[in-house]
Amino acid sequence: MASALSAPHFHDEDAAFAYVEARVWPEGPTCPHCGGVERISKMQGKSTRKGLYKCYQCRKPFTVRMGTVFESSHVPLHIWLQAMYLVAGSKKGISSNQLARTLGLTVKTAWFLSHRIREAMRGGDLSLMGGEGGVVEVDETFIGNIPGAPVKQGGQHKMKVLALVHRESGQSRAFVVDKVDRESIIPIVMQNIDRETYVLTDEAGHYKGQLRDVFLGHGRVNHSAGEYVRGRIHTNTVEGYFSIFKRGMRGVYQWCAEKHLHRYLAEFDFRYSNRAALDCNDSERADRLLRGIVGKRLTYQTTCARA
Ligand SMILES: [Zn+2]
Repeated sequence: MASALSAPHFHDEDAAFAYVEARVWPEGPTCPHCGGVERISKMQGKSTRKGLYKCYQCRKPFTVRMGTVFESSHVPLHIWLQAMYLVAGSKKGISSNQLARTLGLTVKTAWFLSHRIREAMRGGDLSLMGGEGGVVEVDETFIGNIPGAPVKQGGQHKMKVLALVHRESGQSRAFVVDKVDRESIIPIVMQNIDRETYVLTDEAGHYKGQLRDVFLGHGRVNHSAGEYVRGRIHTNTVEGYFSIFKRGMRGVYQWCAEKHLHRYLAEFDFRYSNRAALDCNDSERADRLLRGIVGKRLTYQTTCARA
């Protein structure tokens, strides 16, 4: 079996452009300036930069990098594709230091690429989870200390994450929350889960009441009574999600600042929701990531670095 990284689009810049264009423009080139799809010509010639097209409707030049997370980056496209393949394929993530060493980039550039890749992984899926009598497990967890926060009982000094996992499709959606209480958690549950769903939580007080009346049903696992699995009433799936997330955050990313936590959650959500157990292999996952790049841009202000 050949190395996955031996494919031409990981080494050759022309092949990389062809690979990305075929996925971003399945119907042929589209002008990012005016949206035109007709009267577009590929610019040829030795001094022309790679992948350059000209739109004869608005008379402006463009490439497939324009309007995507690849824009305004000087990193060659085939290196981007290598980086995306590595990030998409590493179950617990890959640190910027590792990415820099593997790809021969500076740490600053690797960090910038990582952040942009995470941005492309952000779902933006506003549809409701569950429905049709399916099951969504809901749980929250504490991770890493908030820098500078005084250590208190009850975990106030830690970062807090709420996760929803749809058992039938295996899709996850995780959120950073300020507090673990009814006011912070219930609105997220209401806004993200279809009413025709069984919601499963633990016995924590903030889940009490209310959910039972809104959803098809609400099952609560009583962990304190040693009751972890009662038929289909368990939260093992969402706990499995947290376990991968924590191993990655502790082992690979050595935690992160709270302001970046939502990006890491997007990364773990993406890999979890497109995992091998759901018949998504590494190449397919990298391709799905590529589809996420369109229209996703990070500005200088939000990342404080430029590749
Ligand atoms: Zn145009």
